[in-house]
Amino acid sequence: MAETPMLKFVTVPRDMPEKREASMRREDFQEIYAEYADVKAKEQAARCSQCGVPYCQSHCPLHNNIPDWLMLTAEGRLQEAYEISQETNTFPEICGRICPQDRLCEGNCVIEQSGHGTVTIGSVEKYITDTAWEEGWVKPIAPAAERGESVGIIGAGPGGLAAADRLRRAGVQVTVYDRYDRAGGLMTYGIPGFKLEKPVVMRRIEQLEAGGVTFVLNCNVGEDLTFDAIRGQHDAIVIATGVYKSRDLQAPGVGAEGVVRAIDYLTASNRKGFGDDVPEFDSGELSAEGKRVIVIGGGDTAMDCVRTAIRQGAESVKCLYRRDRENMPGSQREVANAEEEGVEFLWLSAPKGFSGGDEVSSVMVQKMRLGAPDATGRRMPEEIEGAEVLEDADLVIKALGFEPEDLPKLWGVDGLEVTRWGTVKADFRTHATNLEGVYAVGDIVRGASLVVWAIRDGREAADAILNFLNEGAQVAAE
Ligand code: FAD
Ligand code: SF4
Ligand code: SF4
Repeated sequence: MAETPMLKFVTVPRDMPEKREASMRREDFQEIYAEYADVKAKEQAARCSQCGVPYCQSHCPLHNNIPDWLMLTAEGRLQEAYEISQETNTFPEICGRICPQDRLCEGNCVIEQSGHGTVTIGSVEKYITDTAWEEGWVKPIAPAAERGESVGIIGAGPGGLAAADRLRRAGVQVTVYDRYDRAGGLMTYGIPGFKLEKPVVMRRIEQLEAGGVTFVLNCNVGEDLTFDAIRGQHDAIVIATGVYKSRDLQAPGVGAEGVVRAIDYLTASNRKGFGDDVPEFDSGELSAEGKRVIVIGGGDTAMDCVRTAIRQGAESVKCLYRRDRENMPGSQREVANAEEEGVEFLWLSAPKGFSGGDEVSSVMVQKMRLGAPDATGRRMPEEIEGAEVLEDADLVIKALGFEPEDLPKLWGVDGLEVTRWGTVKADFRTHATNLEGVYAVGDIVRGASLVVWAIRDGREAADAILNFLNEGAQVAAE
C-alpha cells in the first residue's frame, strides 16, 4: 500500500507564509503575508490528520471540504484541489486572506486542540486559488443554457456577488445595482489593502462581467431608482445593502472638526489607493499624515483604522478601548500586528469629551475598570471616579460599529418587515423576506458580520430563488 503523504503534524511544525517586517509594512498598503512557496504549501497541507469527523469543516460557514483539498495539495494535485475548493466557496482566495480563521476553521482543528498548532487552512486555501488564477484555471461563467428570467440584486458586496455568481451559472439574467462607482462593497472600500489587495477583488468583478453579469453602478436605490421600479423589472430581487449607519458618541465637543467616522476615513484611504481624486483626503481632513491620531473602539474596524493611520505617516497612533485586551471584540492577531507596527493601546479608557473648540486638539480620557458581568456574561466597564487624563489629538476616528439604515423608510416600502434592530427579516435558510420574490442576505440581515457569512447567504438565497423561478415556470406551463 502506498504511504500516505498526510499526518505530518508530529514531525512538521506549523509555519505561516513569511510575514513582512513591520518597518517595511508601515511604508505601504500591500498585504503583510507573502505567498507559500510550492514546497511549503505541500508540506503544511500534509500536516492534516484527515479526521473522519472534520471539525474544521463543520466550523467553516461554507462547510468547505477542507480535508480533501488539503490532501490534494499535499499530493501536488492543485487543479483538482481548486475544483473542490471553488465548489463550496465563491471567493476562496478572499476568505483565505480575511476570514478570522482562529475563530472558525483553524480554531477548531483537532491538531490545534492537541497542542501541535493548527493546520494553516486559510493560507493553503489562498495559495490554491491564487495558483488557479496564475494558471488560468479560473474561467468566466459560461452557462450550459440561458434562461429568460432575470434577478435584480441591490448591493455589490460579497453577499450580492455570491448570489449573482450562482444565479448566472444557472443561466439566469442578473443585474447588480450599487450606489458606489466600483463593485465589491466593503471588500473594495472598507477593508484596507494590507489585508486584502484590491486587484484580488477587481479581477473577480471583471470575471463576473465577462460571464454576463450586468453592473449598474452609481445607482443609489431609493434616490436614482425606486425599489418598486427595480422590482417591476425583475422576476426576483436580492437585497444585499450591508450596514452603513455609524454608531455615534454622546460627549461634549464630539462635533468638532477633526472628529471623523471610521467608514469615511477608510473609504477615502481606499479611494486614494485606487488613484482617485479625493478632495477630503487631499485637504488633510481625512488624512492622518503628520497628525496625533486617536482611534476609539476595539473591533476590527478600529484595528484597520489604526494600521491605516500608521501607513499614512501619522506622528503617533493610539487606540482607546473601554475594556481590556482580553475582552476586546477585535482579533488578537490584528492587535499584535498593530502593536508591531507602532500602535499604542490605551486599555480601560473611554472618551469623555473633546476639547479645542472648532478644531479638536485633545481628548479627555476617562479611565475604567471592569465590574460585574451583564446579561451576556461580559464584564461591564465602570468609570473610576476622578481618574481622567488628557490625550493630545489632531485627528479622532470613531470606530464604534455599524447599524442598518431604515430601508422601509428610505425606499418607501412600508410592507418590508424589519426586526427591532432595523435589520431586514428573512428566513434563515431561504433568505426570503415577507415580500414575494424578495430575498435579503449578508449584513443587512445579520447586522455587521463577516464576508464568509455574506457569501453563504448569497449562495443559499440563489438556490432558493432558482426553486422559486422553477415553481413559477411550472405553474405557467400548466
Ligand atoms: P457590503 O459589503 O457592505 O456591501 C453592500 C453594498 O450595497 C455596498 O457596495 C453598498 O454601496 C451597496 N448599497 C447600500 N445601499 C445601497 C442602495 N440604497 N442602493 C445601491 N447600493 C447600495 N469581514 C471579514 O470577514 N474579514 C475582515 O477582515 C473584515 N474586515 C472588515 C473591516 C472593516 C473596516 C469593515 C467595515 C468590515 C469588515 N468586515 C470583515 C466585514 C465584512 O466586510 C462585511 O461583513 C461584508 O462585506 C458584508 O457583506 P454584504 O454583501 O452584506 O455588504
Ligand atoms: Fe476557513 Fe474561511 Fe476558508 Fe472556511 S472560508 S475554510 S472559515 S478561511
Ligand atoms: Fe485536518 Fe485539522 Fe480539519 Fe482534522 S480538523 S481534517 S486535522 S484540518
